[in-house]
Amino acid sequence: MYKKNDVVELLIEDMSHEGSGIGKADGYTIFVKDAVIGDKVEVKIIKAKKNYGYGRLMKIIQPSSWRVEPVCPYAKQCGGCQIQMLDYTKQLEFKENMIRNNLKRIGGFEEIPFEAMLGMEEPFRYRNKAQFPVGTDKEGNLITGFYAGRTHAIIPNRECYLGVEVNQQILDIVLGFMEENQITAYDEQTGKGLVRHVLIRYGFTSKEIMVCLVVNGSSVPHADILVERLEKIPGMASISINVNTKRSNVILGDQVKVLWGSSYIQDSIGDVLFQISPLSFYQVNPVQTKVLYEKAMEYAGLQGEETVWDLYCGIGTISLFLSQKAKKVYGVEIVPQAIEDARHNAKLNGIENAEFFVGKAEEVLPEQYEKNHVHADVIVVDPPRKGCEESLLDTMVQMAPERIVYVSCDSATLARDLKYLCQKGYELVKVCGVDQFCQTVHVESVCLLLKK
Ligand code: SAH
Repeated sequence: MYKKNDVVELLIEDMSHEGSGIGKADGYTIFVKDAVIGDKVEVKIIKAKKNYGYGRLMKIIQPSSWRVEPVCPYAKQCGGCQIQMLDYTKQLEFKENMIRNNLKRIGGFEEIPFEAMLGMEEPFRYRNKAQFPVGTDKEGNLITGFYAGRTHAIIPNRECYLGVEVNQQILDIVLGFMEENQITAYDEQTGKGLVRHVLIRYGFTSKEIMVCLVVNGSSVPHADILVERLEKIPGMASISINVNTKRSNVILGDQVKVLWGSSYIQDSIGDVLFQISPLSFYQVNPVQTKVLYEKAMEYAGLQGEETVWDLYCGIGTISLFLSQKAKKVYGVEIVPQAIEDARHNAKLNGIENAEFFVGKAEEVLPEQYEKNHVHADVIVVDPPRKGCEESLLDTMVQMAPERIVYVSCDSATLARDLKYLCQKGYELVKVCGVDQFCQTVHVESVCLLLKK
């Protein structure tokens, strides 16, 4: 039995869903942050529980052949990337294993019909959205960067390799402007100070840029100077402030005031055009989103005559994508603003065969089924991490669509829900992982279920 401060040698054999290395010393499991599969390491035990413990990485005795030098010098401290020091092909394998293990352990699936994991050719600079917190360091200098893992301490870094290059130029302008004009950064501890976050969005297909300053107030002094500098950046399309005077962790407030240009930027996924405002939800990796939706489209097997229900539809991205090949698509989403966007985006694209409902999927679908006897050939679900309510799964089973396409960002709840569906007459036919969040532990997957 090991105890705190013991020093042990380990071979890292696996990685946890949080990206920590996992090794065993005499059968005792130890989690080691910053160690990767294949590393031989020396660790000091910092916390010892009955069945497992946590070790601090003291020395890499022999680095894994899958260990790579992170491109970002802050990769270790930053809470954003957990597995940058793992070779990208190994990252994909790690993610597929995570899905496989959950489907086996929680779902009880033995033979899993995996298709090759869909990763990125260039697994950096893929994010179209960044929210940089602004603060001050101990010397009182303005800083911006990212939160360290699990805390709100800002690590000063204007060059994140997951974001687009223009972010750095924008941050230089914003912080330079703040310094010159004595504009303060917000302080979470006291609730004082003005600028909280800089939100930047970039349309990968349109090349349009949006900058939104989130402020603890209703205006920014000398904003015209800032606008004059930002508007010169090629592609700048929208400059605004967002008012957030609440003392909470929520980044954005409800009110947006446009300072210059448009209130939104445009971007497209495949042939569908979207208008995105500072408050809109929009997928952050547009390249892989297209890959994900194309997989969902393939699994939906549309011939043009089908009725599709897209549950948890957000701003209707999947609905509008599928509407191109279906007779009719119904989308359901709990956030009213997102449905407004969905309807607006349908109009924008001249799409007339998509209809949207505001409400909980587990309430709207049963109600529509009981009252109006609605029918579905295909049901697509893309729930948040907690997965689907059992009552929703029951209604889906009663409606008996030929196909169910399950898009998931959490393979544990996915496994639970698939198990349920497969006990009630469906068969798991295909599973495909899609890497939307390279360098992080997050993974998306799409599954196809057919009615038996
Ligand atoms: N399919 C969309 C978004 C999926 S994210 C896309 O690809 O862009 C999951 C969505 O489910 C979020 O928009 C969230 O607001 C919504 N949601 C959460 N709980 C819900 C519920 N009970 N019923 C319907 N929608 C819900």
